[in-house]
Amino acid sequence: MEGTAVHRRLIWQVATVTGTVDETPTVRTIQLAVPDWPAHRAGQHLDVRLTAEDGYSAERSYSVASAPGEPVAITVERLEDGEVSPYLTEELRVGDQLELRGPVGGYFVWEAANAGPLLLVAGGSGVVPLRAILRERQRSGSDAPVRLLYSSRTLADVIYRDELDAYGHGIAVSYTLTRAQPAGWTGYAGRVNSALLAEVAWPAHEGPLAFVCGPTSFVETVAEGLVGLGYQPGRVKTERFGASGGR
Ligand SMILES: Cc1cc2nc3c(=O)[nH]c(=O)nc-3n(C[C@H](O)[C@H](O)[C@H](O)COP(=O)(O)OP(=O)(O)OC[C@H]3O[C@@H](n4cnc5c(N)ncnc54)[C@H](O)[C@@H]3O)c2cc1C
Repeated sequence: MEGTAVHRRLIWQVATVTGTVDETPTVRTIQLAVPDWPAHRAGQHLDVRLTAEDGYSAERSYSVASAPGEPVAITVERLEDGEVSPYLTEELRVGDQLELRGPVGGYFVWEAANAGPLLLVAGGSGVVPLRAILRERQRSGSDAPVRLLYSSRTLADVIYRDELDAYGHGIAVSYTLTRAQPAGWTGYAGRVNSALLAEVAWPAHEGPLAFVCGPTSFVETVAEGLVGLGYQPGRVKTERFGASGGR
């Protein structure tokens, strides 16, 4: 029964850290063994709950970074003044346990049945659920043509760079670096705006489906820009991670 399944999924459970990968100086992927994990869909997130000895607890959401069928992983960017992300990226060790519940969310989800052109637009750690979508495309054998536009502060801040650069085969990746560009940089520079979207995004008449994820202000700018280019609002799916972080 659907109701039972939904209820079961949202029960807190204890997961164990099985591995960590440093993606950038401030971003770490955490692989988790979750005893009772219903298959997730590409784009969903989970909730993490940390509880201090005095009983104080904090909850945060993290996108699932892995494709359906792969072990659960999250990728966390450390915010220096943050409550939860410094613990996840600096303190947590293999073998440690973590309370979580999920998968959560049914809207920001891509499935291989969507065969048409796919536009993915990421700001910073907003690339995490889009990476799950890219992996799901590969695993499912989908040949939906993809364009990913990914905005980072600097090249060193690009998450999953080796994986993104290796895709090819129907997946075109464009980077824009907002704060600094290395010598000889041939990608884009500066923030995503309407002109850049017009250059990189699929033309609206091709009926693309768009997924936009990142800091709230980034997502709003991009979604408005795409609608301005003629994208149907209902085909621009958005996920807001929170504050702008001065990106
Ligand atoms: C659906 C969803 C999925 C998410 N997925 C991811 C993910 O895959 N990876 C990831 O790293 N984060 C993700 N986030 C953001 C995450 O939930 C936390 O907000 C983030 O880790 C900061 O938590 P914190 O406790 O360290 O900082 P807090 O103590 O909550 O905040 C510290 C300071 O940082 C600012 N701040 C809060 N959130 C952000 C942000 N996202 N960017 C910049 N500044 C911020 C606050 O205004 C405050 O000044 C997601 C959020 C949502 C809603």
